[in-house]
Amino acid sequence: MTTTPQNDTGTRDLAAAFADYAPSVEGRDIVTIRPRYGLLSGGEERDARDGAVFATIDPSTGDHIAEVAEGSAQDVDDAVAAARAAYESTWRDMPGRTRAKYLFRLARLLQDRSREFAVLETIDGGKPIRESRDVDVPLAAAHLFHHAGWADKLEYAVPGMTGRPLGVVGQITPWNFPLLMVAWKIAPALACGNTVVLKPAETTPLTALLLGELAREAGFPPGVLNVVTGAGATGAALAGHPGVDKVAFTGSTEVGKAIRRATAERGTRLTLELGGKGAHVVFDDAALDQAVEGVVDGIFFNQGHVCCAGSRLLVQEGIADELLGRLRRRIELLRVGDPLDKNTDVGAINSHAQLERIRGFVEDAREDGARIHQTSRPLPERGFYFPPTIVEGLGGSEAICREEVFGPVLAVQTFRTEAEAVARANATRYGLSAGVWTEKGSRILWVSQRLRAGVVWANSFNRFDPASPFGGMRESGFGREGGRQGLQEYLRLEPVGA
Ligand code: NAD
Repeated sequence: MTTTPQNDTGTRDLAAAFADYAPSVEGRDIVTIRPRYGLLSGGEERDARDGAVFATIDPSTGDHIAEVAEGSAQDVDDAVAAARAAYESTWRDMPGRTRAKYLFRLARLLQDRSREFAVLETIDGGKPIRESRDVDVPLAAAHLFHHAGWADKLEYAVPGMTGRPLGVVGQITPWNFPLLMVAWKIAPALACGNTVVLKPAETTPLTALLLGELAREAGFPPGVLNVVTGAGATGAALAGHPGVDKVAFTGSTEVGKAIRRATAERGTRLTLELGGKGAHVVFDDAALDQAVEGVVDGIFFNQGHVCCAGSRLLVQEGIADELLGRLRRRIELLRVGDPLDKNTDVGAINSHAQLERIRGFVEDAREDGARIHQTSRPLPERGFYFPPTIVEGLGGSEAICREEVFGPVLAVQTFRTEAEAVARANATRYGLSAGVWTEKGSRILWVSQRLRAGVVWANSFNRFDPASPFGGMRESGFGREGGRQGLQEYLRLEPVGA
């Protein structure tokens, strides 16, 4: 998140901070949005068999964007059959270097049309254009390039083992990083020789469909990548389909548990990337300016709609007042507004339902006696917006400390000792991410070895790289995406020579 320039004490007055503000809005007209989209199955775009559609909404205004085909169980059936045919007739036995060419081509096409993808992602999902443009789209392309490079080197992915594709993979993605999560999923699956039936989230289907169209343009054989749009019922039909050899799901813990039950019935392979309640642990020797920026980025990036968000701040008592003072001043400098404005720091909440959920958590915390601090800047009158919020005076048992809010809301607690910090950070059913802020290397090691989180960042936060495995533990799921570990999730491994 690149945010408004500030001085290091955060004391700059607001009028000065916004004096240079001039809206600079990325043009909607650079994307052509059709009134209606079909699903992509067997290399063709077509309506759902029963003609059902759902609407996708622009969260910055609440306006209707387009109608999208709502796939039924029969449409899932068709797509799985197309994926199976493509797997057996072409993709499985194609040399890795040829599969790589398709993936490289797709990555390059995505780069060529990156501006269009960024604008479409922002219109459909509400995230600031600066993030779509500088994070989501480039990282999605990086995942495709990275995995294209693996397609002809799979024999080196796991030393001593031969990896073979699994078959047809069903992939279900959430709305917070619609394009990026699709790239995280399809890139390793396709590189390893599997074919894919993808079910994107119902509030943000447009960039997945555009990527599917790009795959056709890149010449992928029909049926290698199928995109079946729809909501939970469509996802459930895919997760429970007997023709699917592996399910990869990113989404909420509750739905993840349902999918785990469905796949257990059939013995289908599964990876789950679920929710989180990540903690920043800030010690009294931390570089405070850096910690403030890291905490702000950790919770307000993408409106807090981030599975690995640092949604809890655990601060050592001696610096709590100082750090919180700086944070309160810092959030006044965040620009909340039109996601297409290049100066916007915090865009729109993805849906009205999510906005209500966030409001509910904050109101419950207020009723529990917590102190709520919110930016004083006005919010846009239309659309779904929530102000950057800091919640203080918490004991740790409140829902806002335990449950994933998935919004721009930071829950603050204090601690005295390292052991207490670790105990508080681990007091959650999740285990996805954490951040440690301290100048002492030995303390970073001591704390990070005791944190129950799949990813721990030290003096930084939200750093991603396709070569680095990402994933959770406990109720944040299992399996990894990225790195060699991510590839293994899409391979059947046998000892060399077996
Ligand atoms: P969600 O679980 O409501 O939906 C995710 C996807 O599952 C959507 O495509 C949805 O249509 C589909 N779905 C819903 N019910 C289903 C069912 N019964 N069977 C099969 N599919 C079903 O989650 P969301 O609200 O879209 O996304 C937010 C959640 O995703 C948060 O909890 C967030 O932490 C998590 N997430 C995790 C990661 C990670 O890498 N761990 C990354 C991004 C988001």
